[in-house]
Amino acid sequence: MVDERGSTMPPADPSEHPGGDLSRHDDFAEHRVSPSEQTTIQIPAQHAVGDGPGRPTAIQTVSTWTSAHGPIVKKVALGVAVCLVGVAGFAGLRKIADAPADPDAHGRSAQTPGTEKSTPDEAAEGVRRAAAGQAVLQKMADSIDEKRKSAFLGTIDPLAKSFDAQARTIYSNLGKLPLATFQLRYVSDDIGALPPDRQRELGGTESWLAQVEVSWQLSGFDTKPARETLPVTFVTRDGTTYAASFSERFVAGQRRPIWALGGIEVAKGERSLVISLDSQADADDYADVTDRAVTSVTKVWGKNWKQKAVIYLPAKQSDMEYVLGAQPGTYTQIAAVTMAELDTPATGAPTRIVANPKLFDELGRQGRRIVLTHETTHVASTATASPVPLWLAEGFADYVAFTAVSVQDESAAKELFKAVRAGKTPKTLPTPEAFAASSAELPQAYESAWLACRLISEREGQGKLVEFYRAVHTSKSRTGLADAFKTVLGTTEQEFTADWQKYLKRLAGV
Ligand SMILES: [Zn+2]
Repeated sequence: MVDERGSTMPPADPSEHPGGDLSRHDDFAEHRVSPSEQTTIQIPAQHAVGDGPGRPTAIQTVSTWTSAHGPIVKKVALGVAVCLVGVAGFAGLRKIADAPADPDAHGRSAQTPGTEKSTPDEAAEGVRRAAAGQAVLQKMADSIDEKRKSAFLGTIDPLAKSFDAQARTIYSNLGKLPLATFQLRYVSDDIGALPPDRQRELGGTESWLAQVEVSWQLSGFDTKPARETLPVTFVTRDGTTYAASFSERFVAGQRRPIWALGGIEVAKGERSLVISLDSQADADDYADVTDRAVTSVTKVWGKNWKQKAVIYLPAKQSDMEYVLGAQPGTYTQIAAVTMAELDTPATGAPTRIVANPKLFDELGRQGRRIVLTHETTHVASTATASPVPLWLAEGFADYVAFTAVSVQDESAAKELFKAVRAGKTPKTLPTPEAFAASSAELPQAYESAWLACRLISEREGQGKLVEFYRAVHTSKSRTGLADAFKTVLGTTEQEFTADWQKYLKRLAGV
């Protein structure tokens, strides 16, 4: 579906990022997603502001589907978080330095103005800076790997006092994570990025900004490394090159690794890893709830997935936005986001559930379990790289969540029943547009999708529902959905829709 965030992003500044392409991705069946795009799906989350922690049942939880301010939605990022590094106008270095690990991820930058204008001398200078920068990065990565703090701190500019504190936090954070790999790779420099004032401030004989790809893999959780591109400031003084910042001039939409945002706490469950920036949050409790969510999902989906989930718990809204590369305020009403922490969507991409701590707290434990089970279903079914239509992705995730935590229909399908009783039975299965955050019928879309999946399960058995989902998910054909209706369920979408309408009327007592 259309990336709701796409419309909130400011246009790229052409002076800074020539060649920027912020076009929206709105063809769900199209697998190629550009790095500057993010596809999202939402479900209404329970709004429990003012509800005490002692809410006794899930029924009450779900009876507050909407607040006075409209539905609160949680969002699953399908595909990738925005990364505009690829559209920044770097000098000619790209031609001669190592290509990015995934050329497609940065492919759009290949023809940036200025690229052709670099002279051989400039290119040689770029190579020299790249070698000096990469040497610093290699020392950093090695010292992380070998757990040599003093060697790590030796790569930090002795005059960059504030970065020194951040670097110590980063070193400490990385020591808390079960890292299988940690690598830093110099991608390209951006010679015009540091204004003269800043260069004077940095001092030394030379200073510059480079984009550096950091890749890191969580042992036991990731099958591929997570990747971000960080702006790293280098300064050379007295013949030695140092890193002087990891956060100068982030490009709008550039994601930041959670371990670079502040001190983290890490809680490990049986099948979950919680990485928390929020010292007030009970990370162990989140791990516990996530473990239960993983078990619930496996019961329905089967064991054919990693059966692990990684949860990020930002301390504040801005942390969440940094992790997701989102514009400020984008997720004010979003309870959780599932994202692939990679520049291109792919099966096996490291997937993270990013919680919005304030809303999660307000949900209460039962609500958190529903939301985390829903999200974990997306993780298990690799919804971040799937051609399934939104009604099936969201309906199935809700089916699993409401199978784990039983909820009365009257509460869970409140808006839909209201419509059906008013003679407004939906004419079609919910469209992608119905799942837009701005959609007036968002709760109804989720309720409709959930009951469509439940109808399949009631009529054909849960196994058939899963088989149907998998058939659509693995199909390479544009007719994958129609094919699955026919081969798995022995029906057509049209016939099924008619049955589903009858089912809704029966449930609503019409
Ligand atoms: Zn969802």
